[in-house]
Amino acid sequence: MAANQTPVVCPPHVLIFPLPLQGPVNCMLKLAELFCLKNVQVTFLNTDHIQQRLRSCTDNVNYFKKYPNFRFETVPDGLPEENPRTGDQIPNLLNSLEAVAVPIFRKMVSSGGMYGPDSDKPITCIISDGIFTFATDIAKEIGIQLLYFDTISPCGLWSYMCLPKLIQAGELPFKVQAQSLFWFRFDDNLDEIIRNAPGMEGIIRRRDLPSFCRTKDLNARIIQLVLKEDKHIPLAQGLIFNTFQQLEAPVLSQFRNICPKIYAVGPIHSHLKARLAEQISPTTSNSIWKEDKSCIPWLDFQPSKSVIYVSIGSLAIMTKEQLFEIWHGLVNSGSRFLWVRRPGSVLGSEKDFEVPLELSQGTKERGCIVSWAPQEEVLAHPAIGGFFTHNGWNSTLESIVEGKPMICWPYFVDQQVNSRYVGEVWKLGLDMKDTCDRVIVEKIIRELMELRKDEFLERADQMSGLAKASVSEGGSSFQDFDRLIEDIKLMKI
Ligand code: UDP
Repeated sequence: MAANQTPVVCPPHVLIFPLPLQGPVNCMLKLAELFCLKNVQVTFLNTDHIQQRLRSCTDNVNYFKKYPNFRFETVPDGLPEENPRTGDQIPNLLNSLEAVAVPIFRKMVSSGGMYGPDSDKPITCIISDGIFTFATDIAKEIGIQLLYFDTISPCGLWSYMCLPKLIQAGELPFKVQAQSLFWFRFDDNLDEIIRNAPGMEGIIRRRDLPSFCRTKDLNARIIQLVLKEDKHIPLAQGLIFNTFQQLEAPVLSQFRNICPKIYAVGPIHSHLKARLAEQISPTTSNSIWKEDKSCIPWLDFQPSKSVIYVSIGSLAIMTKEQLFEIWHGLVNSGSRFLWVRRPGSVLGSEKDFEVPLELSQGTKERGCIVSWAPQEEVLAHPAIGGFFTHNGWNSTLESIVEGKPMICWPYFVDQQVNSRYVGEVWKLGLDMKDTCDRVIVEKIIRELMELRKDEFLERADQMSGLAKASVSEGGSSFQDFDRLIEDIKLMKI
């Protein structure tokens, strides 16, 4: 090289490997876009199943062609195409990924592989879901940096990290009397406060621990997976979180005790929206269901803050009895409602359900039902006054950003913890976990949408302001993202 020539500095190259489910893929794709905007090369590893669904539901796959520094790679998830990939199937999905997808991934990033250290597109670092404990071994083997990005809530993940302590202190397992997928009965007092979860003192009760704690079998596959994850999380070079400092400061400081590099860069959807707005560039949907946009013109005709939006996300399922209890509660509350009824989200065939006249009439007068909604757009709509949610972390953050108070009806994993934080810590709504009775549903909707409407809206508005400030220039998430980019640039291949 001539003396006056400056060396060509290659942009860093990250390989992102999400858990192949709607929530994590959506969130990680948004992170990928943020990276692209900062001139980082991104390889996004999707399963064939997710890629095919993205392709058939959105213009997403084409949209990403606008970033020359982005590429998709795909691997099989090993499950037959017709298998459901609902929440209760996650352990199966993980087993299958380990057997089928992980060997391909390992080959891809190892010496001689397409993205190996000796290739022309070497990876600077791997960013994978925290539940992928295999990533620590692979990264160590190749001598590459690893950042874990758990797309669940930090408060939820921290409760996972506390599991060994809870077991050691005898707070787990509970004494379980009987258990079914939907209703749990215990001889333990579920309202008893948990004492051995540092940073959550006085907040979490037994009933607010993640759903998988409701077992007397500590050898259950999901518990074993989480205990393994607990050991691997501190081995990563850093942890990325979809949250912002002012929402979860105490929990983030607990994480700093186990991993010095913490990047709280969320709410990621809002972060990306802000950066794209600066470039007058549109956002895209990462949906793996086709969005029914007919609900938007319906919302346009409803009065301000009069509609409650109901959705239980992409994985939760309910029984037919629960469906009818919620339905009666909604209709009896007198509130207008927009309800997402995802195909397959109710056990049994919905065609066999006989709908009582009062429900069909009430729905015709005040309701709108769709199979999948453009949720971010819905939550941003001025007609929406509240969100009846399962508290998946993406939904919770989307609601926070739009300043919409919540009614919390958690289904599983971190959602029990999230709903407790929404109700008790952030005071952004009402937690009705473990109940599903039409009288309670009616009462709680009236409380949120009428009796305490102003109080909740004011609080939600304040939190929305903090969330948006965090992703604005100079905000905590904005700064953490810059620090993340700088740290990645300093990583050696
Ligand atoms: N979502 C959507 N339309 C719907 C329901 C959900 O676009 O009708 C999106 C929602 O905006 C969120 C994601 O699906 O980004 C669900 O993720 P979350 O973490 O809330 O829950 P999960 O589906 O993982 O349980």
